[in-house]
Amino acid sequence: MSNPANSTDARRKEDASAATNSTDERSFKQLFWRALRLRCAKCGVGAMFGGYWKVHKSCDHCGVQYEREPGFFLGSIYFNYGLTALIVAVVYPVLLFSNSVDETTLLWSCLGFTILFPMWFFRYARALWAGFDQFWDPREESASNSDTTG
Ligand SMILES: [Zn+2]
Repeated sequence: MSNPANSTDARRKEDASAATNSTDERSFKQLFWRALRLRCAKCGVGAMFGGYWKVHKSCDHCGVQYEREPGFFLGSIYFNYGLTALIVAVVYPVLLFSNSVDETTLLWSCLGFTILFPMWFFRYARALWAGFDQFWDPREESASNSDTTG
């Protein structure tokens, strides 16, 4: 008996209040959940994507730059390729040896999957990569993008 609009508002408020707590920002579960919702890894409120292929430059809520350095999102390939290969490496032999699908059909289906799945998973891979980065190398409130070295 919960109103979906109210629960969405409650979640947004929860995320916004969690953004002020630095220990919550590093919680693995919370970062994972933010990635699945394609939200900013740092605050969990701002949307990471403006369209299917377009990543926003920065969070509209907390202002953090999503692409931390040139080529930052190359690391998302690990998630995208890794999950695609894992799924095919499990599903292909299981279906092949169960004789439930014709061998040629299975081969073409897996080939199609390895092309289409990474295209669909692209945004999630980037969001997961951003969360992974936030987990291991968190960006704090006071830190800006200008590193003062030297
Ligand atoms: Zn943010």
